[in-house]
Amino acid sequence: MPDVAQHLNTDGPTRTCVGCGRRERQGLLLRLQFDGDARLQIVSRPGHGRSAYIHADATCRTRLRKSRLLAKSLRRAITEDHRQQAAVAHESYLAQLQTDPTNGHETAGA
Ligand SMILES: [Zn+2]
Repeated sequence: MPDVAQHLNTDGPTRTCVGCGRRERQGLLLRLQFDGDARLQIVSRPGHGRSAYIHADATCRTRLRKSRLLAKSLRRAITEDHRQQAAVAHESYLAQLQTDPTNGHETAGA
């Protein structure tokens, strides 16, 4: 696993990665969700609507391009734009984790 996984919670139920299709602990996966503008984003905590889960891994991001699990997880039609949004969000999230090692820590009670 990449080092970024260490920043994520390891507890919780399992979910299927929409990239590689393997089951993983939910806390080790990134959560993809539509925001208010119907754009796919990486979210750190659950909002409204269904989520898709993906490893913090560039290989899984590449597989997102042809993933059928993405539409299945989100229960809606996925366009090429959505795939692009998800890939961009995933890549920038990983870049952020690498440049800011404190990112990803919970700030409970803030
Ligand atoms: Zn994966």
